[in-house]
Formats: sequence, structure tokens, C-alpha cells
Amino acid sequence: MRDVVIIGSGCAGLTAAIYAARAKLNPLLIRGHEAGGQLSLTTLVENYPGFPKGVQGPELIEMMQKQAAEFGTEFLEGNVTQVDLLHRPFTLEVGEKKIETRTLIIASGATAKMLGLESERKLLGHGVSTCATCDGYFFRDKPVVVVGGGDTAAEEAIFLTRYATEVTLVHRRDQLRASKIMQDRILRHEKIKPVWNSVVTDVLGVDKGHVTGVKLRNTQTGEETLKPTHGIFIGIGHSPNTALFRGQLDMDEVGYLKTQGGARTNIPGVYAAGDVQDSVYRQAITAAGSGCMAAIDAERFLEAEE
Ligand code: NAP
Repeated sequence: MRDVVIIGSGCAGLTAAIYAARAKLNPLLIRGHEAGGQLSLTTLVENYPGFPKGVQGPELIEMMQKQAAEFGTEFLEGNVTQVDLLHRPFTLEVGEKKIETRTLIIASGATAKMLGLESERKLLGHGVSTCATCDGYFFRDKPVVVVGGGDTAAEEAIFLTRYATEVTLVHRRDQLRASKIMQDRILRHEKIKPVWNSVVTDVLGVDKGHVTGVKLRNTQTGEETLKPTHGIFIGIGHSPNTALFRGQLDMDEVGYLKTQGGARTNIPGVYAAGDVQDSVYRQAITAAGSGCMAAIDAERFLEAEE
């Protein structure tokens, strides 16, 4: 029987592990299918405090991992396929392995939705991004493309106008889904040029190792055009990785776990941290902060039980 099991190896899960391990709770961290989380998909991170010259996302994750291991975190490769949170101790299945635990910290993150193009996957971190706050600065004085018509795309587009010479907003319909106020901002902004009824069919630049343009197709006329660009931001939404907990934990209508008073879920002893419970801030530092809260909550819960 474990005292603390952590699901997820992004910066929320790893921070929870550092705190739980330092509290001598000997945590087990299950790494999951996107080990390292979204930070491991990005390049230079310039807004994580403590790194005046920035730090590579994968390097930051590796350092956190070493720090968690240093204090005694055990790591398990694999995905959780079943959980029972309705009975104590909680039980989890990872492949053939069955694990029992007194507390559980869920930091399984959210996955940015992608268009599903091979070229998009190859150029992720080399001009293809899912986070303007993380990567916008690299496109100073350059033109960029944002895909999507919801609040995420609208926010990304407006954020990018700080740096980019021009932001082309590619949307598959002729009407934005974003809230009215964001629509007004988008449509009035002199740097944002919407391209309606259009989809990205290819990201160009795989041969050069960085994005050089996108191929667009008009959904009404079928016409194909090439748009030179240095960056493409995919803003078509995120999916929280919570399918496993449906029916056991309270979620909002999109599937984000509901937390209160720190990292507590509706089940005592089960905590949630990072993007799996945050549809608003979604930053590395906020994820790390909530991982810390989850570990402290778990520690206090165990103390109170004893
Ligand atoms: P969303 O509202 O679901 O919008 C996704 C957008 O991407 C839609 O315009 C959709 O087109 C488009 N899209 C989806 N799949 C696509 C594909 N494969 N190819 C091209 N386009 C595609 O997602 P979201 O913008 O992430 O927002 C999710 C929720 O979070 C919303 O409730 C939103 O209000 C909220 N949110 C709030 C804030 C804030 O309050 N600050 C910020 C961000 C998000 P269609 O319109 O044609 O479906």
C-alpha cells in the first residue's frame, strides 16, 4: 500500500512528487503516455522564474525529474487504465499491475488539440506551437498564423499582436465562436487579418526544419493558396485527460476536474493539480504551484488520519 500515488509527469506531477518525497511519503509517480507533459513539447521557456536566459522545456522537466528522484520518488512507466476511487484504499491498474494507495494526486494534464497533419507534428516546437504565451516572443517582427475561431484562438491572436507584424486568423467558418467581446477585439484589430472558410491542409518547411508557410484550402471554393509565415499557432482547444475519472470525480461540462480550497476534489484523499483542473491559466508555473498544493493537502490528510 502506497501513501501517495501521482498520475502524470508534467510539471504539476513532478512538483507534487518533490514535495511528497521531501515529506518522506515515498511517492510513486506514474509517467503516463505523454511523459513530461506539454513542457516537453516546447522549446525555450522564458517565463519560468529563476532562469534569466530561459530554459528549454524538456531540460526543465528533466531537472524536475532528477530533483524528485533525488528525494526518493519512484517512477513507473505506463498508463493508468482503471481507477476505483469509490472505495478505500484507492486502487489503480497500470497494465497488469494493481496499485493501492491512501491518497492520489491527479496531474494528468490537458492535451492541446491538433489538426492531425504529419507536417504539423514534425514541426512542433519549430514554428508550430499550441501556446502563444510560451512561444509568441520568438516571432518578434514576423508574420504568424493562428488557427481556430474560439476564445483560445482569439486570445492567442490578440496576445501575438504584441510581437508579430501581422496575425492571420484562419477559421473554418465565416463566424467566430469566441465570446462577443473577443470577437469585437479581433475584428477591430488592425494587425489581425481573418481568413474565413479556410482550413490548413499542410504546414510547409519540414525540409528546412522550421515553418516557412502554410497551405490553405477554401472550404467553399476548394481554392488552394500558400501563405508564407514563420509560425503557426493551433488554437482549436484543449482536452483535459479525465476520461478515466468520469462518474467518480466532479468535472465541469468540458471535463476539467473541479477543485476547491487548494487541490481538493469531491473525494477526500484525491487531489488534482495542473492543467487537468485549470482551463484558465495553463502555465508551467501555475501547474507547479498547484502540484505543491496537492502534495501539502495529501500530507495533511495522511497526518490527520493518523
Ligand atoms: P472552442 O470554443 O471549442 O473553439 C474551438 C475552435 O476551433 C472553434 O472555432 C472550432 O471551429 C475550431 N476547430 C475545432 N477543431 C478544428 C479543426 N480540426 N480544424 C479547424 N478548426 C477547428 O475551444 P476554445 O477556444 O479552446 O474554448 C474552450 C472553452 O474555454 C470555451 O468555453 C471558451 O469560452 C473557454 N475559454 C475561455 C477563456 C477565457 O475566459 N479567458 C479563454 C480560452 C477559452 P467551429 O467554430 O467551426 O466549431
